Amino acid sequence: MRSLIAVFLLCSSFLLTAQNDWLTRLHDAHSDYIVDELEGRRFKHDHIVALLGQLGSDFDVKVEGQSVEGRDIYTVRYGNGATKVLLWSQMHGDEPTATAAVMDMFRFLSASGDGFDDLRRTLRDRLTLVFIPMLNPDGAEDFERRNALGVDLNRDALRLSTPEAQLLKRVRDELDADWGFNLHDQSRFYGAGYPTENMATLSFLAPAYDFRRSVNPNRERAMQVIAQLNAGLQRHMPGKVARYSDAFEPRAFGDNMQLWGTSTILIESGGYPGDREKQYIRKLNFASILAACQSIATKGYRSFTKADYNKIPYNRGGVYNDLLLREVKYRHSDDNEYLLDVAFDLQEREYLGARRFYFRGRIDDIGDLSYQRGYDEFAGNGYTAEIAKAFPELIQNLAAVKEMDQMALLRAGYAIVKVQKPGRPWEQAEQDVLVVGAEGIYDRELAVGLNPPLIIRDAAGVVKYAVVNGRLIPVE
Ligand SMILES: [Zn+2]
Repeated sequence: MRSLIAVFLLCSSFLLTAQNDWLTRLHDAHSDYIVDELEGRRFKHDHIVALLGQLGSDFDVKVEGQSVEGRDIYTVRYGNGATKVLLWSQMHGDEPTATAAVMDMFRFLSASGDGFDDLRRTLRDRLTLVFIPMLNPDGAEDFERRNALGVDLNRDALRLSTPEAQLLKRVRDELDADWGFNLHDQSRFYGAGYPTENMATLSFLAPAYDFRRSVNPNRERAMQVIAQLNAGLQRHMPGKVARYSDAFEPRAFGDNMQLWGTSTILIESGGYPGDREKQYIRKLNFASILAACQSIATKGYRSFTKADYNKIPYNRGGVYNDLLLREVKYRHSDDNEYLLDVAFDLQEREYLGARRFYFRGRIDDIGDLSYQRGYDEFAGNGYTAEIAKAFPELIQNLAAVKEMDQMALLRAGYAIVKVQKPGRPWEQAEQDVLVVGAEGIYDRELAVGLNPPLIIRDAAGVVKYAVVNGRLIPVE
C-alpha cells in the first residue's frame, strides 16, 4: 500500500511538473522573442502602431476606434478556436509592462521551427485570442494613469463616459469573451503577505462580481488558472507572488467582466530587485500569459483548486521602500541623538515629453520601521546620521560642479553645493552632491515628504556614507 501511495504521489507530481513546464520553457525562451524597439517603460503609441504594422498574415489587425485625442486603438486577433479570450493592456497609461510582453508574444506567435509549433497550433485551433494593446494611448503619451479627460478608465465600466471604455465593452460584447486578461502595473512597494521578506513581483486576482464575493464556476476557473501560474512562478521568484483583496468595486472593468460572464484574470506587474524598468517582469508576463492560454486551451487548470488560490498571500501596500536606514542614531539640531529608522523612496519625474525620467528622493516614513523592507537597506548600528552642510563657496555652473572632487566634499561633511547656474534638474540628479540654486534652499530636517541630504559617520566620527536625493552613497 505504501509503495502504491508513493507511486501515486510520484505520478501526480510528475503531472503537475509537466503542466508547469510550459511556464518555465517560455520563461527560458523569452530572450529569443524580445521586441528590442520597446525599451524601458515610456514607449508611446507611435511605437505600438509601427510594430502592429509589421505583423504577418497570422494576425488580423483592426482599428477599433479612437481615444479622446484621436489616437487609433487596435484589436489584434489570432487563432479561430471556439474559446474566446480577450486581453487588454495599459488601460492606465503609466502601466506598460504587459503591453511590451504582448508585443513579445506577437513575435513568439509569428515564429516557427523553434520547438513551440505544437503550442502555437494548440492555441490557434482551440482559442480565439483578441488583444487590445495600449487601451489608453493618450495616458501613455504623458505617462499618466488616466485618459485625456482625467478619467480612470477602470472606474468607467458602467457609465461608459469615455470612448476607450466604450470600445472595451463593445469588443467584449461582440466577442462574447469566455476569458479576460486585465493587465496592469502596480507600485513596486507592495509586499507579498505581511510580515514578509518578499516584494510582490506579480499580483493576481480573480475579481469578485458582487459585494458578497460569491464564487461561481466562471470565477472559480479564473482562480484555478491563477493557482497554476503561481505554482510555476514559484520556481523563478519564490515567495514573490501575491493576490489582491477581492473587495468588490462596482465600477471596475475586471469586476464587471466577471459579472458579464467572462472569467477574468487580473495581472499586476509590481517590483523586482534591480529591475526598475521591469524588463524581468516583462519576461514573467510573457511566460505567464502564454502559459495561462495553454492551460485554458487544454483545461490544464483543472488540476488546481480554489484552495490553492486562497493559499497565495495577500498583496500588501507600502511594505517596501527604495532605501531603508535601520536603527541609525540621528543627531538632531537640538544636539540630542535619537535611534530611528528612516525610509526614502525615489520618485520618478518625467522630462523630454515623458520619454525619460529622473529621480527625486522623498522620505516616506520615520520611526520604528522594523516590518518595512528596503530594496536597498543600511544597517545603521554604530553609525550616526546628521543633516549635511552646504559647501560655503558659490559655484558658477553645473560643469564646474562636475569638475569638483565630490567624494572629497562628502568626506568633509558637505553634500550641498550652491550653484549660480544650476542646470536642468535631471542633470543635477546625476551628481553625488545635492545641487541647489544660489539662494541655497534645501530641506534641513527629517520629515515625511522632505528630501534632506544626510551625512553618516562611524563611531570614530569618520564619514562613511551620504544619503543624497534618496540614494545611499558609500564615501571612499
Ligand atoms: Zn492599473
